[in-house]
Amino acid sequence: MADERKSYDEIVKTAKRLYLDDQFTFRCGQDLDCFTHCCSDVAIVLTPYDVLRMKRALKMDSSEFLEKYTILPFTKDQKVPVVLLNMSGEGKRCPFASAKGCAIYANRPWACRMYPLGVAEPKNPNPDDKRFYFLLKEDICHGHEKGRAMTVREWIENQGIEEYDMMGTSFKDLMLHDFWEKGETLTPRKMEMYHMALFDLDRFRRFVFETSFLEKFIVDEARVEAMREDDEELLDFAAQWLRFSLFGDKTMKIKPEVVEGHKAAGEAGAAPSGG
Ligand code: SF4
Ligand code: SF4
Repeated sequence: MADERKSYDEIVKTAKRLYLDDQFTFRCGQDLDCFTHCCSDVAIVLTPYDVLRMKRALKMDSSEFLEKYTILPFTKDQKVPVVLLNMSGEGKRCPFASAKGCAIYANRPWACRMYPLGVAEPKNPNPDDKRFYFLLKEDICHGHEKGRAMTVREWIENQGIEEYDMMGTSFKDLMLHDFWEKGETLTPRKMEMYHMALFDLDRFRRFVFETSFLEKFIVDEARVEAMREDDEELLDFAAQWLRFSLFGDKTMKIKPEVVEGHKAAGEAGAAPSGG
């Protein structure tokens, strides 16, 4: 995001809170003089489901997509790999922005669907502290107070955000895991596992089906078959496996013979990660 734009934390603290039935007035369209101005020099953080949708729409292998269209910036306090849309080209423009708008509109990322709405989510929602939305009012965007008033709920429905939220549940469970509260960090190898399993899904599929992975874990046969072809099923499984291998959650079951083998080798308790 450009330096002159306010930080997310600053906006969350000061912005007016909106809930699902609150209204705002906004319109976006090709006739506005700001058309696609929001598609340059902005940090679009991609979720695993964003990457899945985009690489599939572009008929690309996930490794190829990540290499061509994303960057992985590293900061000092970073806990997990953050995948951003690569806007390092001319004019720092999104590679999918064209004179006619977004070239991958039907599969655009969650952040692009939400804009100009932001969302803040407490870790343990309760009646006094629940998910709220807020308007990102930036000088570059001229769509505010144009068009008709609509509720946050209508915006979410119209932009197809529910599907993205649903597919993002297991990712959110990883991001909000207690592990981080304890100040724990991932080793470089575990960071690589995290990135591969969630974002480089075609590579993760090869890892599951072309190594001894499935010989180590009890996985329902119907699920195994679904994962061969179904990206969404595989992504859900990836999050489940990461919770087991990164955080020690009981989300996977190791085959008894593998446990016995480890005991015999004097390695009891050293659970296989599958890698
Ligand atoms: S993906 Fe589409 S909507 Fe999002 S920044 Fe790029 S061109 Fe704009
Ligand atoms: S700057 Fe705002 S109104 Fe203009 S195209 Fe982007 S979202 Fe739409």
